[in-house]
Amino acid sequence: MLTLSGLKLEELEKLMDEFGATKFRAKQIHNWIYTKSVSTIDEMTNLSKDFREELKQKAVVTETKIKVKQVSSDGTIKYLIEYPDGECVETVLMRFDNRANLTACVSSQVGCAVNCSFCATGKRGFIRNLTYAEIIEQVLTIQRDTGLKVTNVVFMGQGEPLLNLKNVLKALEIFNDDFQIGTRRITISTSGIVPKINELAEAELQSTLAISLHAPNHKLRAELMPIENKYPIDELKKALLNYVEKTGRRITVEYILIHGFNDTPEAAKELALLLRDLKCNINLIPYNSVDDTKYKKSTNNDIMQFKYLMEHSGKKVTVRLERGADIDAACGQLRGKVAANE
Ligand code: SAH
Ligand code: SF4
Repeated sequence: MLTLSGLKLEELEKLMDEFGATKFRAKQIHNWIYTKSVSTIDEMTNLSKDFREELKQKAVVTETKIKVKQVSSDGTIKYLIEYPDGECVETVLMRFDNRANLTACVSSQVGCAVNCSFCATGKRGFIRNLTYAEIIEQVLTIQRDTGLKVTNVVFMGQGEPLLNLKNVLKALEIFNDDFQIGTRRITISTSGIVPKINELAEAELQSTLAISLHAPNHKLRAELMPIENKYPIDELKKALLNYVEKTGRRITVEYILIHGFNDTPEAAKELALLLRDLKCNINLIPYNSVDDTKYKKSTNNDIMQFKYLMEHSGKKVTVRLERGADIDAACGQLRGKVAANE
């Protein structure tokens, strides 16, 4: 069976040609998939009944299922989405009060090979890459379920997007052309795959690049992220400077605050020094607890002091609001498995 969602307008036009139907039909179907977010061909009511029956012989809108849906007390919704091969990923919808923005936090892989010590996804190891259709399907699932239109996408779910770059870039193109989500409303977060950052710089990517730095020096970063041994912080910084030069875009530096580990005034000063010549904003992320780790969240006092010191160095600093922690939907808590199966 052919899956219609994930097809671009040109592809739908080609398909309609095979059916002996007009380009206008393709446009109608495109609209049903990406704007009206239907789940079945039967819902495409401006197509004739006979044509719908014919189409149903060959195609379906989607084969993805919502396996579990959880709604947090703050309005965040977490979906466990199941693909036809039985693999699952988590996708989170965040709404921020007094803003019209609806942000989808999407996964790019099932599991993750990078294995950061603080992250639930990493503990699972790498299972497989998602196809671009499977990536965009997450946003369609949200739209179908809520009847709302997603306005922003962040690649901050499970997986390392730069290790599945081809599919991530194709998904970006579809978000742009078919969902009408502007490139600048899309953020890709990476643990720091240096050659791929250089590739994005060459492509003059206009999306926001967020970099999971989490430590001000090699020694501390290596304790958290094994990737530091492959792409050390000095090389990473060079790649980031190059990225800013080539794209003109400001980078977001993500920094998890872990009590007594990387949240001290000394760490803040070292970080300020490291970032002084990099065009970036800083996003501080209070550590979210994950089973089997020794880390603890920083105290509010330490978070505020760290923020103050970074601001003092001239950077714009935000502290990430914790969303959906009561349903394990906050950063780093995504596993992509049903608890009962574990
Ligand atoms: N693999 C990519 C994108 C997914 S992770 C990356 O690592 O950047 C999205 C963000 O959540 C990253 O900044 C990641 O470091 C952070 N994160 C992971 N585990 C966390 C935890 N336990 N508490 C807070 N943030 C966490
Ligand atoms: Fe992978 Fe990102 Fe988790 Fe690290 S933080 S294990 S790169 S998903």
